[in-house]
Amino acid sequence: MNGHEQIPRRCWAEIDLAALERNLKAIQAALPEHIRYIAIVKADAYGHGVHQTVARLMQAGIEMYGVANVAEAVTIREIGGNGWSILVLGATLPEEAGFLFEYDLTPTLSSIAEVEMLDKMAVERRTELKVHLKIDTGMGRLGIWHENAGELFEAMKAAKNLKLDGIYTHFAHAETDVEFTEVQRRRFMTAIAAVDWIDPSQLLIHADNSAGLRSFSKSSAYNAVRIGLLQFGITPYAKSLFAKVPTTPIFSFKTRVALVKSLPAGMEISYGRTCRLKRPSRVAILCAGYGDGIPRALSNKGFALVNGKRCPYLGRVTMDQTIIDVTDLPENEVSVGDEVCLIGSQGGGEIKIEQFARWAQTISWEILCSITKRVPRIYKTAIATG
Ligand SMILES: *Cc1c(COP(=O)(O)O)cnc(C)c1O
Repeated sequence: MNGHEQIPRRCWAEIDLAALERNLKAIQAALPEHIRYIAIVKADAYGHGVHQTVARLMQAGIEMYGVANVAEAVTIREIGGNGWSILVLGATLPEEAGFLFEYDLTPTLSSIAEVEMLDKMAVERRTELKVHLKIDTGMGRLGIWHENAGELFEAMKAAKNLKLDGIYTHFAHAETDVEFTEVQRRRFMTAIAAVDWIDPSQLLIHADNSAGLRSFSKSSAYNAVRIGLLQFGITPYAKSLFAKVPTTPIFSFKTRVALVKSLPAGMEISYGRTCRLKRPSRVAILCAGYGDGIPRALSNKGFALVNGKRCPYLGRVTMDQTIIDVTDLPENEVSVGDEVCLIGSQGGGEIKIEQFARWAQTISWEILCSITKRVPRIYKTAIATG
């Protein structure tokens, strides 16, 4: 152990890998058995840490992964599991394309130019490359516009060394707009049905992300799903709508009390003097700020848990420190070094990440992606490997 590892932590994230596995099993159990599961682990597995997360998903039997780009895909390939499929969800830049071949990665293609470029490279390398075609059914991001999909399939048919492995689309508003999601599903199926030289049952046909599952139809042509959020215990819509999949949070965010002191009423504290103390106050200074991932938008908003009790943030969230009001706590209940829970459960209290995100006027997954490098991820319930 080097010295650095012995220094006590000031701010850290705890990740419950057993809960990740339980969530995965719960989602799989809610889906028909033939549906293949593509675990989406982009952006460092939504900030949870890709190495530990993917290692656990691999132990749980997941064989297909989706990431944002070639660099993330290479990271997963290096974790292990040669032969497992890695789908690159983003567009591949020409300079990145060589790595698709070197690491056996599956790109997403949206244009004839991409089909032609990769086919030429595959021919030059005398090898075959598996690809997924993406159809834009209303998101307006990647994929060929569904009305023009025929052209992309023609180019694909003409390709000599590309192997069509899957076709997919992505929903724009699946968490709330079931009607528009149905429009997208119809456009997707119509585009596929128009292609006479493919057998969809031999391909991966997928559209559903976590939110899509809300309107997932068991009797459709889909045979795969792409799940990120839900496996991490985050429901992208009201829990009640997805009660049939009992997922639990796997992430908590913690820090410690650095100092406790009393301040007189009427003081205007913090940067910008944005918080006027209405009463003689006891404040605790926390060892974390926006340099760790507490959004600055939480300034004068929201609560942290001390001894299971909610204590409001006072003044601006600063880079390394944040002030909370502990006046209402009995004096013996807060002292230097005490653990403070920013997200998660403590002593009967809970701050859900969804709530934390609402205080910051953003979404839970942006919070996860904003927990910084300074914050060590501590893994609970890891399976020991020899
Ligand atoms: C991120 C992503 C997903 C996963 O979405 P969740 O809402 O996290 O389940 C699926 N498909 C694509 C194309 C994505 O970019």
